[in-house]
Amino acid sequence: MLNLVLFGPPGAGKGTQAIYLARTFNLVHLSTGDLLRQEITAKTDLGRMADEIISKGELVPDSIVISMIEAKLNTPKTTVGFIFDGFPRTVPQAKALDELLQKHNSKVSVMLCLEVDKLELIGRLLKRGLTSGRCDDADAATIENRINVYNEKTAPLINYYAEQGKYHQIQGIGEIDEIAARLKEAVLKL
Ligand code: ADP
Repeated sequence: MLNLVLFGPPGAGKGTQAIYLARTFNLVHLSTGDLLRQEITAKTDLGRMADEIISKGELVPDSIVISMIEAKLNTPKTTVGFIFDGFPRTVPQAKALDELLQKHNSKVSVMLCLEVDKLELIGRLLKRGLTSGRCDDADAATIENRINVYNEKTAPLINYYAEQGKYHQIQGIGEIDEIAARLKEAVLKL
């Protein structure tokens, strides 16, 4: 199986590129952000809880997102692999993903990290906020907090995957097509 972890700070372009990669390699796209937003739209109890956390730019508890991914992996579906977008975001989530995949006799193939500098990220997120309707894109303080949370809790995963020889940096600035081509090339070289 080909299991890609698409990684990078908020605004790096994970969602956009994950859709492209899923199409190119026939993978099932799993985005914890999208799954949480579906819960918010459906106004479930989980959605209400997630909405409060997401609008502050904090992370939803590990146990919740891990259960969501577990449920998806346990749903029988024929696929050549998965693309994980926005997950894992903490070391416990990465460990849980390894265990879940192991149960399915599989593993993470590579972690593709989109590199984008902070100024560019803030600009992109504020721009997206004008049209996305996402409360977490709407103000500079929340965006700043999301980037800080990323640096504190999520960036340590770079070491986690680097130690396994799975960390792969991809330049995330440029045209969408160019970045997509860089990602495709990295996967084809695996
Ligand atoms: P972005 O990468 O632009 O922040 P996402 O859609 O991936 O967008 O995530 C939006 C928000 O959803 C995050 O800021 C966080 O609050 C929550 N979230 C998404 N995925 C996770 C996760 N794996 N663990 C904890 N919280 C998550």
